[in-house]
Amino acid sequence: MNSVSLKEACENLQQNCIDCGACIQECLMLQGIGEDIATIATRQPTVDEAYSCSLCGLCESVCPVNLSPKDMFAARRAAAVEQKEIAIEDYRYMFPDRPNNTMSVYRELNNISYADCHPNEKLPVAFFPGCTMLTYAPDLTRELYKQLKGEYEQLTLLPDCCGLPLCQLGMHSREAGFSVNLKAKIQDLEIRKLILTCPNCYYQLRETLADTAIELRTVYEALAPNEVVGRRAPDAGLKITVHDSCPDRKDRIFAEQVRKALVQKGYSLVEMANNEEYTSCCGSGGHVSHFQPDLAKEVTRTRVAQAQKTGADILAAYCLACVLNFATVPENLKTQHVLNLLLEFPQNYENVKLKAKTMFEGSDGQKIWERIMAEETQK
Ligand code: SF4
Ligand code: SF4
Repeated sequence: MNSVSLKEACENLQQNCIDCGACIQECLMLQGIGEDIATIATRQPTVDEAYSCSLCGLCESVCPVNLSPKDMFAARRAAAVEQKEIAIEDYRYMFPDRPNNTMSVYRELNNISYADCHPNEKLPVAFFPGCTMLTYAPDLTRELYKQLKGEYEQLTLLPDCCGLPLCQLGMHSREAGFSVNLKAKIQDLEIRKLILTCPNCYYQLRETLADTAIELRTVYEALAPNEVVGRRAPDAGLKITVHDSCPDRKDRIFAEQVRKALVQKGYSLVEMANNEEYTSCCGSGGHVSHFQPDLAKEVTRTRVAQAQKTGADILAAYCLACVLNFATVPENLKTQHVLNLLLEFPQNYENVKLKAKTMFEGSDGQKIWERIMAEETQK
């Protein structure tokens, strides 16, 4: 992840912003601050402002002079952690490098195990579903493993996090240590090809493994020859609107592959006002829902309203965090992961986030919370 210093990011904006207002027009968070970019850069963002930015990057995409308000807010997060201006340990329930975090405990309580998917074995090809999919879509993860196994006989499953959450929280040195360990694990297992479903994981691991010969493939490339993916869908003809993921906005690798695969299945595509390079956040970016839940909900509702305007039958996303977020909006159109459509494996995501929340209710919930929070963190 790009990590310029706060001073550098602010000076760049102070000196070069032409005050066109394009970024503010696209961003609810900037509109909420109510100041121009040079003014924010001159006084430097507050910690609250930094943790209100979803790090979505739309401001970069629309800037006519290639500036990045996003970099300023990301650098402010890193400075806040470094200077202990935020009690980041209060959010340790999210840290993926702790044995007990919200996701690992959710999997344990719901008996989600991938013991039958040859996890962490020394095999040439590895499927890396990412922690959100591993946790909240175990049936889809298992189905994907099965279909991928049909294409790659010697397939292991890596039940790891890519490390991006640490980066987004502003914990860059901790993320660096995490990534060194993850890279060593992948190399020790002698993996030559890594298959990824999540765009966040894809771009994060592309950086982590940049100096290795390990080949990264999206699940859409890996499943291109698959019989189910290649055949016409039983509900072909339905109109799909695709929500693009923020980390894909620059390279648009997933955006292109997903659209091609959906058209091949016989679906027709209708596009939202903001798509591909100019996609909008789903509301889960930058973990804003943990810091500014009302703002995050408003971002989600705004995006859902865009999807509804297209007249689509289905809102499809290729990041499970986006899918789960959209599924929380009661009046939303049907939401599916793109892979549910391609594999003809429909799922209902409406109550998944609620189920995760209720884990902490009642006296048992309190004990679970204490267990997650009390444990000593790894450094
Ligand atoms: S990264 Fe997204 S949320 Fe943050 S300032 Fe830019 S457009 Fe706004
Ligand atoms: S889009 Fe770029 S130039 Fe325009 S206000 Fe934002 S940062 Fe400044």
